[in-house]
Amino acid sequence: AKEQGRNGYRFFESAMNANVHQQLLLQQALRGAIDRREFVLHYQPKMVSPGGPLVGVEALLRWNRPEHGLIAPDGFLALAERTGLIVPIGNWVIDEACRQMRAWLDDGHRDWTVAVNLSTMQLTHPGLIEVVRSALERHRLDGRYLVLEVTEYTAMRDAEASLAILNQVAALGVGIAIDDFGTGYSSLLYLKQLPADELKIDRGFVTELARGNDDEAIVSAIVALGKTLGLNIVAEGVETAEQQALLERLGCDAMQGYLLGRPMPPEALIRSVAHLARS
Ligand code: C2E
Ligand code: CA
Ligand code: CA
Ligand code: CA
Repeated sequence: AKEQGRNGYRFFESAMNANVHQQLLLQQALRGAIDRREFVLHYQPKMVSPGGPLVGVEALLRWNRPEHGLIAPDGFLALAERTGLIVPIGNWVIDEACRQMRAWLDDGHRDWTVAVNLSTMQLTHPGLIEVVRSALERHRLDGRYLVLEVTEYTAMRDAEASLAILNQVAALGVGIAIDDFGTGYSSLLYLKQLPADELKIDRGFVTELARGNDDEAIVSAIVALGKTLGLNIVAEGVETAEQQALLERLGCDAMQGYLLGRPMPPEALIRSVAHLARS
């Protein structure tokens, strides 16, 4: 029995080593991915309703890892955070989103913004303001075309520091969206102080949405709160026409979700919104 226990232990240990090995390989691959140009941004439309107009797009990071295909953020973002690699990767995202927005403007698309997600570590990293400022400058982009999305949780974590940084972001003319709203614990007093422009209702509330249930009451309360604070209200994760109709009736200003459009490469986005952009 003792023998077996030892073998069992050994088996466990080697499985663990294999896992650690996997993690190291992943980390190594991730480290070189920027230089190898393996990251791409997909863009998901934010629209008033399914017929348009398009008010903005959200840039969502994808990793085109050789022999693994296109990897979504949940496959590498946690590691990028842990290792600090999220900072250079995030800087690349900001620059690339600005470059793309400049290209769209040059093609005559005027009326939308590009939103970039920021993780907690990026928000509190001392270089952020300079990175944003120089990306805008390099691509000759007015700050109002860029939006930074910060989750309610991130904005709350170190409230004083976040507020100071977000005020500097706002001073560049860049928009601020509070992401995943309703999942954090921000106080009204803090929300009131934030220089935010947009509030994004977390997908969790939208998914369960049906007439007359608790989530309808919650969404309705969030909309009222956001409007009182002068914010644009965007609902995330809208998948059905029923959800869309209800959200519209509840007063949401814009929506995002598979019903309106999936995250897509820039060429596909332009193809799918071309008829909207022309009108
Ligand atoms: P998020 O900011 O809340 O982005 C929305 C996520 O929901 C995206 O997942 C999007 O593809 C997905 N989604 C959109 N509409 C629907 C829908 O109708 N139904 C369902 N089921 N899902 C929908 P994705 O692209 O996998 O990104 C996951 C998270 O990774 C994002 O959540 C964001 O927190 C983070 N992320 C993405 N790109 C970046 C980035 O460039 N930098 C940082 N720091 N984080 C990023
Ligand atoms: Ca987001
Ligand atoms: Ca603003
Ligand atoms: Ca979100």
